[in-house]
Amino acid sequence: MDSADKFPVIRENYNFACTLCGNCCSGVQDVLLDWYDLYRMARFLEFENTARLFKAGLVELRTGPEQLRLPYIRFKQRPYRFCPFLENHIDDDKISGLCRLHPGHKPLVCGLAPVSRTIDFENDQESWHFVKPAPDCPGVDSSQVNSLAGTIQTWSNELAYQTRFFHLLYRLSASGKQFADEWFIRRLYNFDCQISFERQMQKAIEQIVQEMGIL
Ligand code: SF4
Ligand code: SF4
Repeated sequence: MDSADKFPVIRENYNFACTLCGNCCSGVQDVLLDWYDLYRMARFLEFENTARLFKAGLVELRTGPEQLRLPYIRFKQRPYRFCPFLENHIDDDKISGLCRLHPGHKPLVCGLAPVSRTIDFENDQESWHFVKPAPDCPGVDSSQVNSLAGTIQTWSNELAYQTRFFHLLYRLSASGKQFADEWFIRRLYNFDCQISFERQMQKAIEQIVQEMGIL
């Protein structure tokens, strides 16, 4: 069974309203980023390029399936575990607050929540699932109705860039070639914040395709 199968499929509408409690931004959470998330985050911080996010310790690489290196937000560990972009305050040992990246620079996975997308490149299909953002997310109890089409429309740009990102990773993993962290940071996660993202993305894809002969 695919891991996505355990989450309910969303076809049209879903009930949800975020209460801004911050539970999904603290504790044991994993925030997977894509290349456009990195670009928007680095621009928000007025960094000259996205590689600086790794040097600054805000983003870390983790080894995923097929030895792919994937970027995740590095949560602060002390005195509590929470996202460095959470503008936090602590009451009764509980962290709450607002996301500093909201709305224009927020990572796609955070913006889409509780909606999660699964892409099957083999069969050229995608599906949408309802994934609780945190075990104690109060937003899932809401009766507010949201349309999946509306959510997809809101994030259409980011979703399109993410599709290109996942497709390239898919082809890299299918090639069986393996690379070290440095290669991923230099070739996939290094964008100049002064230059249009789309142009750089296109160039990165073309160069990797040419060098690897993978597409
Ligand atoms: S846990 Fe749920 S309600 Fe709380 S901030 Fe996250 S998405 Fe919103
Ligand atoms: S980026 Fe924003 S929404 Fe996502 S975990 Fe961090 S604070 Fe929360």
